Amino acid sequence: MRLGHRVERDKRITSHLGLTARAFGADEILLSGEEDETPLETWRSVSKRFGGSLECGYEPKPMRWLRSFSKDGGKIIHLTMYGEPWRKKSEKIPFEGRVAVVVGGTKVPGELFGISDYNIAVGNQPHSEVAALAVFLDTWLGEADPGRFSDGEVEVIPSESGKNIVSKGKE
Ligand code: SAM
Repeated sequence: MRLGHRVERDKRITSHLGLTARAFGADEILLSGEEDETPLETWRSVSKRFGGSLECGYEPKPMRWLRSFSKDGGKIIHLTMYGEPWRKKSEKIPFEGRVAVVVGGTKVPGELFGISDYNIAVGNQPHSEVAALAVFLDTWLGEADPGRFSDGEVEVIPSESGKNIVSKGKE
C-alpha cells in the first residue's frame, strides 16, 4: 500500500514503487492519497506486457482499510526509518497468510505505528520508499519466482550482452 500519493510530486516515484513491488513478488498494489489513474495504468500495462496477475486499485480510506485488514487477521509491515533493523527482523516475519507492506509519502498518520505488526527500518536514515521497499522485499522474500511472469506477451531472457526479448505471440 502506497500512502499519501501526490499527483504532481509523486508521479514517477509512485509508478516506480508499484513496479518494484510487482517485480519483487507483490500480487496487489493499493494506491491512496490523491486519486490518480496514471500509476494504475502503468502497472496494468507493464503486467499485461511482462506477465503476472497483478491486482491494483485506489483506496480512498487507507487507515480504515488497514484496520479492517488487521481485524481480519492480515499482518501489516510498515516501512519506516524509525523502525527496527530489517536484517534482524525479516527472518522473524512469517510468509503465511495475507501481508500488507505499507510505505509513506508525506508524513504518515501516527496510528500506523500502533496498528502495524512490524515497524521495519532499512537503516535509520531517511531515504527513498522505492529503495526501502526493494531492499526489504529482497531480504524477506528473495527475488520473485520467475515463473510468476510466464504469461506475459514478452519474456526477457537474461543475457550477458545486449537485449534478448522473446515475443510470446500475444501482442
Ligand atoms: N518525511 C516523511 C515522514 O516523516 O514520514 C518520510 C518521507 S520518506 C521519503 C517516504 C517513505 O519512505 C516513508 O514513509 C517510508 O515508508 C520510506 N522510508 C524512507 N526511509 C526509510 C528507511 N530508512 N527505512 C524504511 N523505510 C523508509
